[in-house]
Amino acid sequence: MPTPSDTSLPSVSPSPPNEPVPEPILPPPPQLYSTGRKVMSFVTTFIGVTVPLVGLGVGMYLAWGWGFGWVDFGLLVGMYLASMLGITVGFHRLFTHRSFQTVRPIQVLLAACGSMSFQGPLLDWVGRHRLHHQHSDKEGDPHSPYPHTRGLKGWLAGFWHSHIGWAFTPMPDDLDRYAGDWRRDRVIRTVSALFPLWAFIGVLVPSVIGLCFGGWQGAITGFIWGGLVRILLGHHATWSVNSICHLWGSKTYACGDESRNNLFVGIVALGEGWHNNHHAFPLSARHGLRWWQFDLSWLVIRALVICRLAWKVRLPSRGEQIARAENPAGPMPAVGTAS
Ligand SMILES: [Zn+2]
Ligand SMILES: [Zn+2]
Repeated sequence: MPTPSDTSLPSVSPSPPNEPVPEPILPPPPQLYSTGRKVMSFVTTFIGVTVPLVGLGVGMYLAWGWGFGWVDFGLLVGMYLASMLGITVGFHRLFTHRSFQTVRPIQVLLAACGSMSFQGPLLDWVGRHRLHHQHSDKEGDPHSPYPHTRGLKGWLAGFWHSHIGWAFTPMPDDLDRYAGDWRRDRVIRTVSALFPLWAFIGVLVPSVIGLCFGGWQGAITGFIWGGLVRILLGHHATWSVNSICHLWGSKTYACGDESRNNLFVGIVALGEGWHNNHHAFPLSARHGLRWWQFDLSWLVIRALVICRLAWKVRLPSRGEQIARAENPAGPMPAVGTAS
């Protein structure tokens, strides 16, 4: 893997001087939600969290009698990689931070695959994540573990809120207003609105493949391992970036928040665990900035560049990395285009 200084890709400043500085993103004003809205939000999240967990239990029970075959394993790994790369390369690096550009079919493919991970519509995801960067670990951050009270109890409460607790409370209906650049794009707006269709396809595909290989029994195990269990693992890998990577790990760069680099999350979340690097250089297409920081999502972007399917890839130069590490009082980095 090349070092940041010897990559053949163009090295572009995270804050190119010829681009307009994004407008500050103000947090949504405090809102009073109806009881029905609160109940609906709680029930939806509860189902989204517990059904995949039940799927894991049922899958393990069935594996006791039916076994766990190579088709099940292949569907679990294949669907995990497809849906998670849709999140990491698509939802996050392409759509939220615009860290590279690509052709329309790849945009749609990444948006559809990311939607299969059951993390909500693309434009809502982008809006929420831009809020996270703009107000990281401060008031207005949708899922920060801070502030939390002292001691283990406070730490666990912070962990719970940042991991999944935040999703049990309603979010504003117009989160996508923070993704105004993509909301004006008719194709992407339509793909985002078709979230239920992509999510359904995400569980239909492994079921059909399982059916082809193993009949109705294969369809059931394909649905469980390539659908429910894959969703469970993808959820917790993504949520770990919000929780673990703001609580536990190393800080290479001073960027005004509590973001951390965490090796474990770096591997399971396909490169997203190098989260302190990412908060220091949010426009960078590459999060694992050292040769040993495995970043599968970056390798995929590099492969797209080699195939001439991606361009204008943004990377911090070696000098910028050194300056950020040695200059804690440096300016806060810009976040992707907000409007
Ligand atoms: Zn973060
Ligand atoms: Zn980000």
